[in-house]
Amino acid sequence: MTPTDTKSTVLLKHHLKALKLPTMTAECEKIAQRCAADNADHLAFLLQLCELELLERERKAAERRLKGARFPATKLLDEFDFTARPSVNKPLVLELLKGEYLDRRENLLLVGPSGTGKTHLATAFGMSACSQGRKVRFFRVTELITQLLEAKEERHLLRLRQQLGKLDLLILDELGYVPASKAGAELLFDVIATAYERNSLIVTTNLPFENWTEVLGSERLTGAALDRLTHRCHLLEAKGESYRLQDAKRRRRPHHGPAS
Ligand code: ADP
Ligand code: MG
Repeated sequence: MTPTDTKSTVLLKHHLKALKLPTMTAECEKIAQRCAADNADHLAFLLQLCELELLERERKAAERRLKGARFPATKLLDEFDFTARPSVNKPLVLELLKGEYLDRRENLLLVGPSGTGKTHLATAFGMSACSQGRKVRFFRVTELITQLLEAKEERHLLRLRQQLGKLDLLILDELGYVPASKAGAELLFDVIATAYERNSLIVTTNLPFENWTEVLGSERLTGAALDRLTHRCHLLEAKGESYRLQDAKRRRRPHHGPAS
């Protein structure tokens, strides 16, 4: 037993633990000593302990939100080179990063060829929303369709839809690489229609709108999905060649040679 481990400290820690205040349990003695040294009163001591508990809770919740969002990689806006992608509207991106579109349940569409930074931007928006305390989930469209089909087969589609309904932001990455089956397209449409005006969606796609029928199958479904997605929507267009290709070319170029 240390000198401070008196009967009352042991009891106090026991009670704090029972009250599910782990940070207060761990820190109470240290803070008590510091407050005694600083001549801080009892309320100041309690305040410091409560603040520590709250901070730690928020840190853990943020960690859980980030993990739960299942981003494929960490991508931040700081790492995005706007000069390499002049077609992307930087002021709009910076404005959107504040997250107010989420309060207005607006959607974001990121359109452009492969490798132009759509997933990077979608992830950066998602991570920023997460850090603002929003619930976010990132899916590749094929992954979501598979999960929806499986859920339907295993009779827990309702549960999955309820989980999706609780999100502030649902990211659907790579619409258009693989055409969906009829059942898959209908389930995907259902997610988009349910999210309409309730949750925000970010959709990335390499397909121009007129080709969306290739993925969703029917004209009717495509029209209805586009109608919902594009109502109250911000469009970001990434034009040009793949960033990796640009990067590789830059590296191959001699340092002082003529630009080609
Ligand atoms: P897309 O989703 O459009 O196919 P990605 O976002 O996956 O493209 O980008 C491919 C790779 O290039 C990623 O590693 C991404 O971080 C990087 N990248 C793309 N555009 C930029 C950019 N403008 N600045 C910095 N990195 C970029
Ligand atoms: Mg991508």
